[in-house]
Amino acid sequence: MPEKYSKLTKQAHILILYTGGTIGMIRKENGSYEPFSFENLSSQIPELAQFPAQIEVDSFDEPIDSSNMTPEHWRRIAKRIEHDYNTYDAFLILHGSDTMAYTSAALSFMLRNLSKPVILTGSQLPVGIPRSDARENILTSLEIASATNDEGGPLVPEVAVYFEYNLYRGNRLQKVSSQDFEAFRSPNYPLLAEAGVQIKYHRNFIQTASVSRFEVLENLETRIAILHCYPGMSASLNLPLIQNPQNKAIILRSFGSGNAPGEVWLLEALAEVIKAGIPVINVSQCAAGEVEMAKYDAGRKYQEIGVLSARDMILEAALTKAMVLLGSGLQGEEFAIAFRENLSGELSD
Ligand code: ASP
Repeated sequence: MPEKYSKLTKQAHILILYTGGTIGMIRKENGSYEPFSFENLSSQIPELAQFPAQIEVDSFDEPIDSSNMTPEHWRRIAKRIEHDYNTYDAFLILHGSDTMAYTSAALSFMLRNLSKPVILTGSQLPVGIPRSDARENILTSLEIASATNDEGGPLVPEVAVYFEYNLYRGNRLQKVSSQDFEAFRSPNYPLLAEAGVQIKYHRNFIQTASVSRFEVLENLETRIAILHCYPGMSASLNLPLIQNPQNKAIILRSFGSGNAPGEVWLLEALAEVIKAGIPVINVSQCAAGEVEMAKYDAGRKYQEIGVLSARDMILEAALTKAMVLLGSGLQGEEFAIAFRENLSGELSD
């Protein structure tokens, strides 16, 4: 197993951007959490001042619960990274865990030709609470963000999420628990690193730094419908969603290896949409494994009408990849070719 422990570059210059989330929240009188200002965070983790790197901290003007994240916020984060790309060696985004996997997947497609670490982290308990996981998540994320290889380049030059001793590729993880500290899982790709007494990096699984010019793809198409298959789904409820003239793509959340009910109304409606140039993308409800439409008749029918396979992409990756590709103006065959390509480590070979 290819493993390597990190070295720290004393001079690393890191921008921490606090967007909101539990990590910096406080408890209101009614018992619910609401975002609080970032001063709370830095005063709660005095170790930040001693960390062997030059750290600067900035915050969204109004920190948000990540349930309120939108592509507009992703654009704001991406543009901030673009603006300061040459100033910092790495970027640490503090984010609520609820939609962190969507943001990290979106950033992995928006930030093209990355050669610096963009690490996201958050916590399950606010930083001020004694048993909070926030301190460890932030301090280890900073260590990962400043770690260098033998040539002095960054060890993790990609969008990644650090949470509860694990480092995940940004477009491979899903939130699976709202109560365990280990809130995420990467069903189809190995961990990039594991933190114990030392941090073990699995370097064969980490992307290499791009040598091409960094750029941001900032336009995202949000008019993408998600059609969830379930036993008993009816034409009357689901046809309006499929036939909505605003749709620019439809994600079909299929069963198992890409199977869906063989109802004529469903097949016909999707075939019509595809003929009109709207891509229909098959993403299985099973996060682990891969869409193989030809395996069963129940999937083959969908392959025959031209449904695109998301293969082993998770929903968060397939959705945000489609948003970015459509937002970049790709359509029809061009869209299909780009969607099948492995753009950012989101697909297995
Ligand atoms: N609701 C919070 C959020 O995603 C949960 C968290 O931070 O873990 O913003």
